[in-house]
Amino acid sequence: MISRVRGVMGRKLVDQLASVPDPYKPLAEIMLKQKYHFVGRHTVVKKCYWTHAAIVEGRFCYKCKFYGIESHRDIQMSPVAFWCWNACLHCWRIRPQDIGIDVDDTKMPYADDPKMIVDGIIEAHRRIISGYKGHPKADPKRVEEAMNPVHVTMSLTGEPTLYERLGELIQEIHRRGMTTFLVTRGVRPDVLANLEEEPSQLYISMEAWDKKSYNYFNRPLVPRAWELTMETLHLLPSFSSPTVLRITLVRGFNDTEEALDGFARLIRTASPTYVEVKAYMWVGASRERLSKTNMPSHEEVRRFSWRLAERIGYKVYGEVRASRVVLLSSIEKPIRHGKGCPEGPETPEPPTGEYEAIDNPELTY
Ligand code: SF4
Repeated sequence: MISRVRGVMGRKLVDQLASVPDPYKPLAEIMLKQKYHFVGRHTVVKKCYWTHAAIVEGRFCYKCKFYGIESHRDIQMSPVAFWCWNACLHCWRIRPQDIGIDVDDTKMPYADDPKMIVDGIIEAHRRIISGYKGHPKADPKRVEEAMNPVHVTMSLTGEPTLYERLGELIQEIHRRGMTTFLVTRGVRPDVLANLEEEPSQLYISMEAWDKKSYNYFNRPLVPRAWELTMETLHLLPSFSSPTVLRITLVRGFNDTEEALDGFARLIRTASPTYVEVKAYMWVGASRERLSKTNMPSHEEVRRFSWRLAERIGYKVYGEVRASRVVLLSSIEKPIRHGKGCPEGPETPEPPTGEYEAIDNPELTY
């Protein structure tokens, strides 16, 4: 099957595949078909839906509305394509064992040079954007701007804190005049505490509110993962850059009164600058583990967010209906990292109807 896939690959894809060592090649091959671009041995870049929307439709993502990130000038990447310390139910990462490769996906065996990675991700982003030159619906000015990216979001797939030179990578990106958002599950407080340079904004992504729900939903592959996450939350107030607790809301799992109380406790511990509540989206491999009904509506996200804001005393700052996300802020106005979307987000509407906590979650744990 692999050689048949290779047969229909273009030259550039074959070159990218050649840089990935065995035994990871079959995984890389599948990811290349899913439109990931490989840079070196372990870094991936992928075009975000909002890059396309910004260039072709003049529509921008919630990071633009909340924090000024210009969607078309944002590189979506991960320095850790294949490795993670979790196997979350909602994840779209392909694991080696999914395709019968017998390797430990919690240990990253090699680390590329940060300078090479930054050169490579900029080149990959430009390659993606150059496809819009001559596109009949593309805004030429935006295409031109996009050729010069100004922001890097490290999320996409895998756990970025497993890359041992992460601090140097952040330093190198900042040295080139770009800002960074780092999204992590928070299992490496040791790495976060010792970064050579902080990201421009640090996200801790969570779905669980206690150890039991964590072990059920986030399926840790290493011992003490919940305890390590708690260490990270205790560490968060020491960061000078803004911090975000991102809650992915999953209908039937964490939209309960118990979860609301649990998240409020975690937020009191971590004192993040912001809390983002965002709907789980039924995409990729997560469709095999969750069902479409686990996707909450925007109204449900809004109801949960307002209830949480009441408990923690944060301001409901804004919402973006298209992304089913609500931003709660501990500061009057969020810090902007770019020049995008000066009009800001939609004004938050109070939820309609009564809050209905689900007493019998359909996901049991
Ligand atoms: S932490 Fe992220 S990459 Fe790892 S399994 Fe969970 S969702 Fe997937």
